[in-house]
Amino acid sequence: MTRTLSIPTPSLVVLVGPSGAGKSTLARRLFAPTEILSSDALRAMVRDDENDMGATNDAFEVLHLVLEKRLAAGRLTVVDATNVRQGDRAGLVAMAKRHHVTPVAIVLDVGLDACLRHNATRQHRGEASTPYVTSQHESLRRAIPEGASDVAHPLKREGFRVVHVLHDEAEHASVTLTRTKLDVDRRELQGPFDIIGDVHGCLDELTQLLARLGYAPSDGVWSHPSRTALFLGDLVDRGPASIGSLKLAQAMVERGHALMVPGNHEARLERALAGKNVKRTHGFDLTMAELESMSGPERRVTEASLASFLHTLPSHLVLDGGELVVAHAGMKQSLQGRDSGTVKAFAHYGDTTGETDAYGLPVRLDWARDYTGDAVVVYGHTPVLEAEWVNGTICIDTGCVFGGRLTALRWPERELVQVPAARRYAEPARPLSG
Ligand code: ATP
Ligand code: MG
Repeated sequence: MTRTLSIPTPSLVVLVGPSGAGKSTLARRLFAPTEILSSDALRAMVRDDENDMGATNDAFEVLHLVLEKRLAAGRLTVVDATNVRQGDRAGLVAMAKRHHVTPVAIVLDVGLDACLRHNATRQHRGEASTPYVTSQHESLRRAIPEGASDVAHPLKREGFRVVHVLHDEAEHASVTLTRTKLDVDRRELQGPFDIIGDVHGCLDELTQLLARLGYAPSDGVWSHPSRTALFLGDLVDRGPASIGSLKLAQAMVERGHALMVPGNHEARLERALAGKNVKRTHGFDLTMAELESMSGPERRVTEASLASFLHTLPSHLVLDGGELVVAHAGMKQSLQGRDSGTVKAFAHYGDTTGETDAYGLPVRLDWARDYTGDAVVVYGHTPVLEAEWVNGTICIDTGCVFGGRLTALRWPERELVQVPAARRYAEPARPLSG
């Protein structure tokens, strides 16, 4: 059976193997020419001769510069160089992490004999001579003992998230590639969408808003004949019906009538459902009281179902050909369509300084004020009096639970649809702004 290597996009693919292992041959077969940064090709570019080892420093300087630009643009890039030294790989892993791109290693561990045999047929050059290749092979062995498995591979400790090892020359010639999209990348979905701001347990206002948007319930699941709802997170805490609101969204998502990204309050609920100790502050006491009022079996089923649902939610979504980005607390351009701890933290909490203000709340940086991205970013999280456009971004958390309004933004129409809160369910920790 042909082996298939699975690679997430975007990623930084680091080929690892001594000279003659077949890195360039494999790269040419599996990747587009523009995706490959080869130390040989760059030596040729700066000195007209790919075998001129004196060009190595210049070649790598150019390689790193182009790599930096490609990763910033979210382009899958392959580094075709021996990369047998840990220090060389560490620089590449660090660069991938800086751009929130997955570091992937493909190790060509075909044995010293095969490398020497392959090189014997090539034009002579210093780096490919027997002592060099032998020492490259020894470096590789030091990092990767023979027989290391792909699953708990030593390169994973260096920060590579995916490691594929090719041992066999024949396998190397037949292996194929599949590129997997990150779950935040849903550019193929064009909507039209109804993007709904922070609900915080305001179930009555939510069903009113859905009805006003043209949705209707059938078998307990709300749907629209031609539109998709999109929940921006924070369906729970502070308000009167958190579990009901979240279950309404869950049913719509599971039947394909809605999408959802999680807010910081869902992240907290998820931690609590996983048995972690979570403080019952910021309205979480009310959500827990709803769960505690259930019978034992009902509570167990509800908690298990919500936990597995929350686990499936992507940190943010890139939609409609990349024109629309939705995230609970927003997403600056350099993090859109990526996935990492930093991306998740930004999606949940926005750009924070790590300090707290006079009200005991995190100090927020105004990423929207500096936003210059092409995609429209629709978000919630920070309650505002009016939903207003700022540099192609809009916050549609109009503080329903604090007695404001529940807001939806229709996409692509860019119309706001709002329902007023029936009452003030909670007091804001700081006055609403905007
Ligand atoms: P370098 O680090 O020197 O650039 P490399 O790892 O890129 O080496 P290649 O240029 O891909 O190696 O391969 C070296 C030679 O070995 C080429 O002539 C290639 O055709 C041959 N070769 C590579 N892989 C195989 C294989 N699996 N079976 C047979 N020949 C191979
Ligand atoms: Mg090569």
